[in-house]
Amino acid sequence: MKNVHIAICGAGIAGIATAYYLAIKYRQQDIVLIDKNLPMSLTTSKSGENFRDYWPQPCMTALTRHSLDLMKTLADNNDNVFEMHYSGYDFVSASVDRDIFPSDHLAGPDHAESLSRIVDREQLRSTQPYLDESIQQLVHISQAGAIDVHALGSLLISKAKKAGVQVLQASVDAIENQSTGFRLGLSGNADHRSLDTKNLVLTPGPFIDEMAAMLGISLPVESILQRKFIIPDPCKIIPRNMPFTIFADPQFLQWSDEETTLIKDNPEYGWLLDEFPAGLHIKPEGSGNIKLGWAYNRKPEKPRWETTDDFDFPNITLRGASRFIPALKPYVDEPPTPIVQFSGYYTRTPENLPLIGPLQKEGLFTVSALSGYGTMAACSAGELCADCIMGGELPTYAPYFHPERYDDSTLMAEINKTASDGQL
Ligand SMILES: Cc1cc2nc3c(=O)[nH]c(=O)nc-3n(C[C@H](O)[C@H](O)[C@H](O)COP(=O)(O)OP(=O)(O)OC[C@H]3O[C@@H](n4cnc5c(N)ncnc54)[C@H](O)[C@@H]3O)c2cc1C
Repeated sequence: MKNVHIAICGAGIAGIATAYYLAIKYRQQDIVLIDKNLPMSLTTSKSGENFRDYWPQPCMTALTRHSLDLMKTLADNNDNVFEMHYSGYDFVSASVDRDIFPSDHLAGPDHAESLSRIVDREQLRSTQPYLDESIQQLVHISQAGAIDVHALGSLLISKAKKAGVQVLQASVDAIENQSTGFRLGLSGNADHRSLDTKNLVLTPGPFIDEMAAMLGISLPVESILQRKFIIPDPCKIIPRNMPFTIFADPQFLQWSDEETTLIKDNPEYGWLLDEFPAGLHIKPEGSGNIKLGWAYNRKPEKPRWETTDDFDFPNITLRGASRFIPALKPYVDEPPTPIVQFSGYYTRTPENLPLIGPLQKEGLFTVSALSGYGTMAACSAGELCADCIMGGELPTYAPYFHPERYDDSTLMAEINKTASDGQL
């Protein structure tokens, strides 16, 4: 039996950042960070690693902005080992009137400085010649870019370990309430079969539902499998300095008459004729590859530890991408190989805001439901959870992420006013 002051269950980027801020900001030493597998091997290893402060909800702008500030400081103090760079986002649309994310907040002064909009066709043709003729509007976000999340997590975990945090490889199979704290039932390589802790932080990524249920707690989360893939770009279609480019329009995929007949004859493929959502994204990757993603799947499922490749996904996504970058069309039928696919869960709440802070029991906390933005928000989310545990001063955005916000009807009415949830 082992006894600690704080146990953090799950060493993805959320658990690692929480351990880091507890150890570094609050000098807490008696912390154990537990994971069944290698740190960052689950959802975090599937991240597209992009960041932005451009969110329809003001609280998300504030959370991600603070996270970018924290990452910038870490980058400056550590030779930018995690390669934080501001390469920007370009949202493109075939409609000059398209609101990227419908929201009063985005139209206000908060984003005026970091946003530029091009609606002049000639200017678009000369600056972004790879875009389709139909594109009428480009919104460029400058407070956006990418990091190497594995390098960021490795930096945080090594500093946390130096400050005294222990990392334990074990599966948390059971959690019991004790009069003061919690008893964790462990299996795997750990020397101990159980561990007592005064404070417990749940950071198990897609398994938050399962872990909260061990304590009889039900949380409003669902997990939806999303994918990305990397392929070579032998025809050099995507300029190496192209910003992360997102199609802001929903679309119907283009099929030949023969393909349409085939789809209609196979009812299980009927969805391929439905409208697909906005948000398809593409960027250059490494020296000669491109990375594409499209969160068109909207079906929640019970998370699995192992996921399999979807062989239709690259074809569907390239077909959609060739709508706004037409030179990609030859890749639709003959995609360059190798195709490397990544899949993981967007574990999210209905309004797509995370759960950060205290849960219903004394000493119990979570950083979870980080959906498709967990790598960009991890630093501020981990710091906020550390502030909650240590009774530190809380930022103004804290109530918006409080796991018990659903009991506050005024706050929820304000949250639900925003028409877009900002998901890409
Ligand atoms: C395809 C895809 C693309 C994405 N792109 C971006 C992006 O561009 N930018 C961005 O900011 N975010 C992106 N995200 C989101 C981001 O990757 C996640 O929000 C983030 O990684 C979540 O981190 P986490 O620590 O909460 O979860 P995880 O990384 O899943 O970590 C949870 C950890 O808990 C451990 N665990 C679970 N249960 C147990 C147990 N019972 N016992 C012991 N250990 C346990 C797991 O082994 C795992 O290591 C993307 C996600 C996906 C799926």
